[in-house]
Amino acid sequence: MSIGTLFIVSAPSGAGKTSLVTALRESLEGFTVSVSHTTRTQRPGEVHGRDYFFVDHAEFERMIAADGFLEHARVFDNYYGTARTTVETALSEGQDVLLEIDWQGARQIRSLMPDSISIFILPPSRRTLEERLKARGQDDPDTIARRMRDAISEMSHYSEYDYLVVNDDFDRAVAELRSIVIASRLRTRRQFEACKDLIAGLLA
Ligand code: 5GP
Repeated sequence: MSIGTLFIVSAPSGAGKTSLVTALRESLEGFTVSVSHTTRTQRPGEVHGRDYFFVDHAEFERMIAADGFLEHARVFDNYYGTARTTVETALSEGQDVLLEIDWQGARQIRSLMPDSISIFILPPSRRTLEERLKARGQDDPDTIARRMRDAISEMSHYSEYDYLVVNDDFDRAVAELRSIVIASRLRTRRQFEACKDLIAGLLA
């Protein structure tokens, strides 16, 4: 069985990344979305083991010491990490794996796995981004200004990625993400195993 491809998806908060990844996962087979570990507080509606594994600092440190993370980073005020075994097992079983991580994690993965494919999602305009960040809750202007600064800082790394997708029209953005995944599955390296008998017969 061929090895799966690792996809990295990054975006500023407010770009609609999670909804896009959910739609992508629903529309394609053979796809695993990695559930990260984080030290941040669980938000209402979030489920342990589905959205994140919520752990305390001691547990996070223990996993770092045990080399349990493929990558980890401090993002704003919290720590986030991708568990090594889940990703490596899924890839070795031929599954494609998608990581929703920030630019720091993306850099670590790229140097560790140069064959990974990275995608950056942009919001369609600054105004839309601002509106989406405001719509998240009844936060004070300072919090919104800080989120905006954080979003700009994340977006400043867009050029490190292989693909840029603008989330203007949701369905089109999902179709674009799908086409990136489908194209990667058609690469000769991936097709070789699936088409082995066909090729042997054709070239006989
Ligand atoms: P949130 O706390 O809003 O869910 O995520 C905040 C940021 O952390 C987002 O940019 C998200 O992509 C990033 N993030 C989530 N999980 C991971 C991870 O495992 N590693 C890294 N490096 N960043 C992550």
